[in-house]
Amino acid sequence: MSYYNKSAETMPYEQLRENQLNSLRETVKRVYGKVEIYRKRMDEAGVSPEDIRTLDDVARLPFTMKQDLRDTYPYGMFACPMTDVVRLHASSGTTGKPIVVGYTKNDLEAWSEMIARQLTALGIGEDDFIHVAFGYGLFTGGFGVHYGAEKVGATVIPVSTGNTQRQIALLEDFGATVLCSTPSYAMYLSEAAAAAGVTDRLKLKAGIFGAEPWTEEMRRSIEKGLHIKAYDIYGLTEVMGPGVAFECECQSGMHVNEDYFLVEVIDPDTGKPLPEGETGEIVFTSLRKEAFPVIRYRTRDIGRITREKCACGRIFCRMSKPMGRTDDMLIIRGVNVFPSQIETVLIRLGYAPNYQIIVDRVNNLDTFEVLVELSADSFEDTVSGMQRREKEISAAMQSVLGIQPKITLVNPRSIERSEGKAKRVIDRRRLHD
Ligand code: ADP
Ligand code: ZN
Repeated sequence: MSYYNKSAETMPYEQLRENQLNSLRETVKRVYGKVEIYRKRMDEAGVSPEDIRTLDDVARLPFTMKQDLRDTYPYGMFACPMTDVVRLHASSGTTGKPIVVGYTKNDLEAWSEMIARQLTALGIGEDDFIHVAFGYGLFTGGFGVHYGAEKVGATVIPVSTGNTQRQIALLEDFGATVLCSTPSYAMYLSEAAAAAGVTDRLKLKAGIFGAEPWTEEMRRSIEKGLHIKAYDIYGLTEVMGPGVAFECECQSGMHVNEDYFLVEVIDPDTGKPLPEGETGEIVFTSLRKEAFPVIRYRTRDIGRITREKCACGRIFCRMSKPMGRTDDMLIIRGVNVFPSQIETVLIRLGYAPNYQIIVDRVNNLDTFEVLVELSADSFEDTVSGMQRREKEISAAMQSVLGIQPKITLVNPRSIERSEGKAKRVIDRRRLHD
């Protein structure tokens, strides 16, 4: 028995659109009244809440960018009193200053509802044991899926990240039937399980993976490696966290929870909305969020939307896997890394900003190396001196990034110079995909 009927997901399409319009109008009115930056932007654009008469009118509203969240750090974009905020989450930013988002009780309830929808779609419920290997903490992954999993009555195992050997032992001992993690970590677990010879003893039947891009090839290897069905989940902190869109049992694109979010695809250069089916930047407007509503948030994720009917019967449109971003942020083992953060650390330690980031995927786990060029006068001629400096840089980066790169010091002028934009990042993961 599923824990609820899926009426929201199967209502007549016209009714969904009508509900969306009503919620949009309410949201716009509310943020105009409560959030200074939204009111200012709308005034500048000459648009008032009353101008929103159809869903297409959303295109008249100004965009919101990640920078706006930084500029208003920490609580400048909250739309309710802090007394109503019961949870905060955060994600890292270029300057090391995170962006902060908040949730009211209703927001958390809505979030678990969205997670529960996916679990229900996949036939996951009270008989299941859900091993959550997404990070718990300020990152939205762990807590995000946690409450939805409880909501469907499953037994939740909040393992969080790290300690792979222990994860394997717990998977076996506790009899997990569902694994939630980043796809790269799932791949890594799959290999560790094989190496430990326990794969056949695991009771896993499904996995829900997201927070970073992954390919169909990767899906197939995970499914084969762990003997499960692997499903995609999408989200971002600024908009909510995982569960903004979810894959159903058909595994053919992720249904956007359209009763909670209005989705648009725009041309990233002109900002103009694109017709259905075309590839562009995905933009979300929250329709029912209380603490941290977002208006036309530019995700920088590149993807496409289809309204073609899904075989599952859900009316919600589906978005493709986002495979690229418009900005330069890297996601390495699920952690956001900006080249500018690396630059900041190097400069602080007295190095010139001549560096190159090499990201690859070996045995399906991301590798992360930074080549750092020595200047002629800082040249080090002892091996131990080099190693000491490499360790020092690596540790400094770990404290800023939350993830530790391998540092390799290289000879002066050995990193290729470029006339135009420097090529800071060599991401070989794409080549394998
Ligand atoms: P989270 O919501 O996981 O805490 P962040 O805000 O740190 O995440 O990162 C969100 C970004 O992660 C998205 O904008 C997108 O680029 C990427 N992402 C999340 N889920 C997926 C997915 N299923 N496929 C591809 N990329 C994803
Ligand atoms: Zn479907």
